[in-house]
Amino acid sequence: MQLNLLVVAGDGIGPEVTREAIAVMQTVMNAGGHSLAVTEKRIGGIAIDTDGTPLPQDTLEAALASDAVFLGAVGGTKWNALPPNTRPEAGLLQLRAALEGFANLRPAFSIAELASNSPLKLDIVSGADILFVRELLGGLYFGAPREWNKHTGEAWNTMRYTRDEIIRVARIAFELAQKRNKKLTSVDKANVLEVSQLWRATVTEVAKDYPDVTLEHQLVDSMAMLIMTSPRNYDVVLTENLFGDILSDESAVITGSLGMLPSATIGGKVNLYEPIHGSAPDIAGKSIANPLGAILTGALVLRHSAGLEAEAAAIETAVRKVLEAGYRTTDLARGNTTDFKVLSTTEIGAKVRE
Ligand code: ATP
Ligand code: MG
Repeated sequence: MQLNLLVVAGDGIGPEVTREAIAVMQTVMNAGGHSLAVTEKRIGGIAIDTDGTPLPQDTLEAALASDAVFLGAVGGTKWNALPPNTRPEAGLLQLRAALEGFANLRPAFSIAELASNSPLKLDIVSGADILFVRELLGGLYFGAPREWNKHTGEAWNTMRYTRDEIIRVARIAFELAQKRNKKLTSVDKANVLEVSQLWRATVTEVAKDYPDVTLEHQLVDSMAMLIMTSPRNYDVVLTENLFGDILSDESAVITGSLGMLPSATIGGKVNLYEPIHGSAPDIAGKSIANPLGAILTGALVLRHSAGLEAEAAAIETAVRKVLEAGYRTTDLARGNTTDFKVLSTTEIGAKVRE
């Protein structure tokens, strides 16, 4: 198969880590007789400098015409003084809105070689492998009415969902659970919120179409604790927008390294893939950025936009092997550094491709 990928590498370490991710995807796809056709466009600060806008029209058009979009990172100190709606981050928000992805996938996994990087105890995190499916276009962040009334000193937001919005994201979560360990945990606050009662009733109804998946419900407050005390008990975790934002960030401590984590936003017109870390301006241009999160994001592209499960798994295995062999980027080389071989961004990318 041929995958037409739009690459928007953006700012800071975005281009450095993206280059390695694309090279890995290309190697793995070519080995399997497939091809990756890459188009590159500008987004974020670099687009402000050259085009006067963080999301140029031709970038948007190319995104909508592609099979998938790969984003590096946007932003940097250079553009921090701009008003919010003209900053690099606004370009990413506009792109996300245009692509209409409503299911944000965020894995949180423990990697044996890096488990000591996690602040959690080894026997708690070892083997943990959670996939968050966070609803991304509804709930408290988007619901109306919303207002800050400066006269009365009141402000309000609305956590609103329709049945259809819940059904479509629940289906994605159940399908992923079928492909993984057939276990789904749905998170809500049904003991207090009507919107959560609708959420729970709807997810329970959707579950009837997936009899091979075991569904459990957890309240968000106890889930925040359970994820830290027994992360191995969870596999696919389905949440509404706000709860997922909080829980998936919390769960990044399971991995313990920002530079390792991938994400995907699916279900809309075109899927969008990005490592969860930002543009890290403090280390940009030094070739010390960790490209493994971007490389693992490449695995998600192959899994969710190309249907190449074996190739996706091959990338994940290759990353593990590189770590097993003792190779690290600077951010990962904590503790007893004499055991590690610290590599640059390009060197570790090359090791993954070997
Ligand atoms: P943004 O606003 O762009 O999301 P942020 O404030 O969330 O940025 P990041 O840019 O993600 O922060 O990074 C925070 C710090 O973590 C960086 O300054 C950098 O030192 C470190 N970091 C992030 N990503 C990586 C990476 N891939 N490799 C090495 N270090 C990283
Ligand atoms: Mg950030």
